[in-house]
Amino acid sequence: MTNPLLDFSTLPAFDRIRPEHALPALTEVLADNRACMAQLLAQADPTFESLVAPMEELGHRLSRVWSPISHLNAVANSVTMREAYNACIPLLTAYSSELGQNTALCAGYRQVRERHGAVLDPAQCKLLDNALRDFRLAGVDLPEDSKAEFRATLQQLALLSTRFSENVLDSARAYTRPVHDASELQGLPDNAVDRAAEDAREAGLSGWLFRLDQPTYVTVMASAASETLRRDIYEAWTTRASDAGPVAGRFDNAPLIAQILPLRHRLANLAGFPTYADFALATRMARSSSQVLEFLGDLARRCRPAALREFEELEEFAGRRLSAWDVTYYAERLKESRFRISQEALRPYFPLPKVLSGLFTLIQRLYGAQVRERAGVPVWHPSVRYYDLLDERGDVFAGFYLDPFSRSEKRSGAWMDECVVRKALPSGSALPIAQLVCNFTAPVNDRPALLTHEEVTTLFHEFGHGLHHMLTRVPYPSVAGINGVAWDAVELPSQFMENFAWTPQVLPLISAHVATGDPLPAAVLERLLGTRTFSAALGAVRQLELALFDFELHAHFDPAIGPRVLQTLEDVRRRVAVVPAAPFNRLPSSFSHIFAGGYAAGYYSYKWAEVLAADAWEAFEEAGVFDGTVARRFVDAILSRGGSRDAMEAFVEFRGREPDVRPLLRQTGIAA
Ligand code: ZN
Repeated sequence: MTNPLLDFSTLPAFDRIRPEHALPALTEVLADNRACMAQLLAQADPTFESLVAPMEELGHRLSRVWSPISHLNAVANSVTMREAYNACIPLLTAYSSELGQNTALCAGYRQVRERHGAVLDPAQCKLLDNALRDFRLAGVDLPEDSKAEFRATLQQLALLSTRFSENVLDSARAYTRPVHDASELQGLPDNAVDRAAEDAREAGLSGWLFRLDQPTYVTVMASAASETLRRDIYEAWTTRASDAGPVAGRFDNAPLIAQILPLRHRLANLAGFPTYADFALATRMARSSSQVLEFLGDLARRCRPAALREFEELEEFAGRRLSAWDVTYYAERLKESRFRISQEALRPYFPLPKVLSGLFTLIQRLYGAQVRERAGVPVWHPSVRYYDLLDERGDVFAGFYLDPFSRSEKRSGAWMDECVVRKALPSGSALPIAQLVCNFTAPVNDRPALLTHEEVTTLFHEFGHGLHHMLTRVPYPSVAGINGVAWDAVELPSQFMENFAWTPQVLPLISAHVATGDPLPAAVLERLLGTRTFSAALGAVRQLELALFDFELHAHFDPAIGPRVLQTLEDVRRRVAVVPAAPFNRLPSSFSHIFAGGYAAGYYSYKWAEVLAADAWEAFEEAGVFDGTVARRFVDAILSRGGSRDAMEAFVEFRGREPDVRPLLRQTGIAA
């Protein structure tokens, strides 16, 4: 029998793919691709059609094999699936670094760009420019010894990142907080208390035991009435992997940071950039370090007065001065007393079938795309559904799987992933297919699943990514959908889409009480809308503090002086922060986003994309949120274009000007 992963004629055979298919299929497609590439590179005068289009086909083929493997590893994880997945990773890494530093391939692309540029369309030019830029960022043009240093630096950085996250995990694991007196548990939700009791029992202790992880930290900060408990957990959390706090010095990340920053700087210099911030910006929508710093500084100046007011109000409500570990707790209490609304109480108003039918109606009204369920498509779990997207003529132009419910073998969180990327190449066509994955609580018996409003917003967010993928009209996979989109602009369609879940005209479409069918009562709706902007400025200055710290650290690094980590942080705080910092706080030591994740010189992207989304949303508000003309312009300028054009140009085409921060400030009530 043939390997189902190598059958590209239909949707993936999720009912037949087994872990043992992964490695053989990947090995075969990589060998095939290498052989094809050798042939393509042997030609004398390559053109777009003779070199680039076939390379796009090879990339598409590889993604058709790899997408189901990585998807199943995320949604149907088993020991064998994980082993199969892990066995594939080194092969993929080797292949992609081979491509990135392939001098002949780079020369071929350059030849096509230089000799045939005049006859290429803008999407083809952008594809080539992206590719040539990525070759440069991978160090393709360097002399051999520098190339070796480039590779070694990358490897060393990867190693340091891994050790950084291990230290964060290990130091968190090394800490536990016992509780013997039940009065210290006041305010905590039952499930958190039960878990702490269970953890104590497992450790052979009486009472309760709190371990240090994200959910525990969040729950204690928001709900624990005991200030001692809050302070202890806060101190342990903010001193992870540092020289301070209860586990001081055992897993200190400061020496790793002191190595990471100079190595990044060196990497950037090798690739021809003055700083790592400039190197990182080469693939982003933001054009320069000074633009990012001005953007963040400007927002901070505008948000700070409102944040100071919010903090004052909070201290007034609490009736005392507040420390860092008090802020979330009192903010939650103030929110409760002001809005008297709980996510749990909202569930009966948002049965999943109603939310979906409303969402599909919205998509049809906005973009003329009809969503129709298709039965009989092979899926990886019986609760997964498949839907076609039909255009106004009734032709199917895209599709998506929806996997809404939490399962033990599924990764947590929610995401959109590409199952099939759109292509329209001489060698064949494919429609874009998305996978939308959430982790909602599965329904019991034959009752529908009931969502909180937060979950509804999550669904809309992922659908925004999905529409970016599915409404693409770009024929070349490497710049179709979300591919090749500047990383600081990729959250624009998703954050934009969240707005509809907060719109009074849309809420009646997506809400109907599960027992009575009544829409959300007007008074509840009003209180719900109020919660959206609650404490927004305090949250914003916190994000801006992190973003400025990250960016200044990478933009102002001077090898003659070395890293100035805590000084930079202190300096940023003096300008931006509103809540007084705890003297023991060692935030950098556990800032995995920038030292072990992909956000180095990129944390600003959260705010950047929020600004884009709010500004785009304002165009809809100005014209009426269902306005077809604005929606069409949004599709034409942004959603359908993927990475085939510059993100700033696309935005300017849609909005008629560059992004403005004011819509975000208005929508979050900061500029009221
Ligand atoms: Zn997202």
